[in-house]
Amino acid sequence: MTFQILSYPGRVETFRRIFGRDMPEVGFAGSVEEADPADVRYLMAWTFPDNLATRYPNLELIFSTGAGIDQITGVDIPPGAKLVRMIEEGVTTLVRDYVVMGVLGLHRDLPAFLAQQRQEVWKTRDFVWPDQRQVGILGLGELGMATVHALRPFGFNLAGWSRTQKTIEGVDCYHGADGLAAMLAKTDILVCLLPLTAETRHILNAELFAQLPKGAGLVHAGRGGHLDQDALLDSLDSGHLSGAFVDVTDPEPLPTGHRLWSHPHVVLTPHIAGHSRPESAAEATIANIRRHLAGELPKGVVDIRHGY
Ligand code: NAP
Repeated sequence: MTFQILSYPGRVETFRRIFGRDMPEVGFAGSVEEADPADVRYLMAWTFPDNLATRYPNLELIFSTGAGIDQITGVDIPPGAKLVRMIEEGVTTLVRDYVVMGVLGLHRDLPAFLAQQRQEVWKTRDFVWPDQRQVGILGLGELGMATVHALRPFGFNLAGWSRTQKTIEGVDCYHGADGLAAMLAKTDILVCLLPLTAETRHILNAELFAQLPKGAGLVHAGRGGHLDQDALLDSLDSGHLSGAFVDVTDPEPLPTGHRLWSHPHVVLTPHIAGHSRPESAAEATIANIRRHLAGELPKGVVDIRHGY
């Protein structure tokens, strides 16, 4: 019974150390050469070969090294095997902090002040207090909820949108198409923390931006495929949206010369909102294998029907 991880050397060696320490009863392979594929019950990687089921006939758990699984396309998941995404405190902490930074940055007009600084303009703007702002979060899962908890102490009005209805103290919860329209109508700062699925692709489009109040801003830390980049730029150019923090683009890296690089009201980062931390990711993976061995469901099992 072997756990195999295919990743960059630093992550592989951290996993090797922690598996040797905490789960010595399970074999460890840090490369394709280190294991007979028939022995591999647990396989972790970012992407997988199409013929997974024939290459690894005895797979039980297929782990994504990342929180999302949208990069895993066209793979035949062996019957009976489960696909598990990464849930661990390292990535949650990073994404939560990035979104808090973006929300505070938009709340305090940072994109506009950065633009003014480049032009050496010393000019104040109207002051707005947190209880006068509504933050709307698309996605109330692991990362959306961590963000809700982190934003609470600032005193913003909080709202969130998910596929299924939620009840969260102090948060106006919405779901479905009607719920989205109702939330957008009063959202000053929109945060995207959705998974990329057939339903959410290009959800951040011209129609959605038009439903936000004038002057609203966007923090996008989901996936590049959520965003119609031209629609965002048009909305910023028209003055309807006031600013955006954009961490993910399509394609990545963003091509040289793309308008997102230089738009005065965009803060662009190179997909760094989150990254799983090797130590805590290894511990979370071991805990998941233990759950599986005990006949329980691992944390983060993907529902293939819904794509996340
Ligand atoms: P999660 O726990 O699966 O939560 C996903 C949330 O989105 C859930 O609340 C879900 O609703 C909601 N949702 C899914 N499809 C929907 C739809 N069609 N309509 C409305 N709501 C929908 O995922 P997570 O761990 O929070 O991660 C979310 C995403 O963040 C990842 O998939 C990835 O794309 C992105 N991410 C980005 C970075 C980065 O560096 N930028 C890093 C990590 C993750 P229900 O609660 O009703 O199921």
